[in-house]
Amino acid sequence: MNAPALIDTFDRRLSYLRISITDRCNLRCLYCVPDGRLPKLDHEDILTYEELLRLVRICTQMGVTKVRITGGEPLVRKGVYTFLSQLSAIPDLQDLSVTTNGVLLGPNLERLREAGVRRINVSLDTLRRERYREISGYDHFDRVWAGIEKALLLGFHPIKINVVALRGINEDELLEMGRLTFDYPFHVRFIEYMPIGNARMDPAANLLTPEIQERLSVLGDLKAVGRQVNDGPAQRYRIEGAIGELGFISSVSRHFCNRCNRLRLTASGQLRGCLLSDQQTDLRTPLRSGASDAMLANLIREAVRTKKAHHRLAVPTAPKVSDPMSGIGG
Ligand code: SAM
Repeated sequence: MNAPALIDTFDRRLSYLRISITDRCNLRCLYCVPDGRLPKLDHEDILTYEELLRLVRICTQMGVTKVRITGGEPLVRKGVYTFLSQLSAIPDLQDLSVTTNGVLLGPNLERLREAGVRRINVSLDTLRRERYREISGYDHFDRVWAGIEKALLLGFHPIKINVVALRGINEDELLEMGRLTFDYPFHVRFIEYMPIGNARMDPAANLLTPEIQERLSVLGDLKAVGRQVNDGPAQRYRIEGAIGELGFISSVSRHFCNRCNRLRLTASGQLRGCLLSDQQTDLRTPLRSGASDAMLANLIREAVRTKKAHHRLAVPTAPKVSDPMSGIGG
């Protein structure tokens, strides 16, 4: 099958697929699972690795070159390392990365590397052990940090540290987080909190990029770093003297929809054009009822055709996103 590239009606070329391989997670972060209870899909509702590989192969034939594996927590799914090696072997896939909370990272870094993964994003909202427990529900800070340091030694690059910036929760650590870039080649990325799923955070907890940047400016001038082909939505900066970078993912204050190149596949096999809209196309049913590759490619193309110009998070009358982040993958 040789299919034309995935280009939507706003002339955006979709080359980046984010896949949530499980909705299970070994943490209960308060902004992601506010009532501490993750909705759980039945095992048979989650796409198998064979189904995922088939969809990725079809997508790469339509111009997808970059895949990120996320969750839930991707490293809790059995067989994930073999799956990652199989993904790495897909000829047109140029960029494979994983987003993890890092809890299982340390003991599995060699397996990740053998599976062909060189780039990881680790979510870490605080550098304080007790606060980590308060935010995530578990006392795992030390092992996450040990995993990050080991990843550095093993040559993973870049290591991106994702920080959801929350007023009254970790705002007093923004400078410490920013200072990490003077000591480590990390890309520290500040993410604006997005009110989706069953989120019940106080909207006043939202810290937006302009304020975060203003606070970080005491560390030095933020110099913009030129964008590269496979760059995601983060605006990238470096402070003079730093060996790492700062990034800002401003989904709320300055959405980047006009250059969005992403599709998302949920753990249950729903293809979404936008993280912040519940509009989705079911790929699991056709996958399991004998659809050919060409039929699946048509469904993917149709999902791309209906991708909206931009999200409507800031529109008060727009429907809220009801699906949980754990199933969509963030
Ligand atoms: N378990 C993995 C992890 O922790 O990185 C992958 C899944 S997690 C849903 C992916 C990212 O989404 C994490 O960086 C997390 O902090 C972020 N996230 C979750 N809920 C969010 C929210 N409501 N607003 C902004 N970011 C959120």
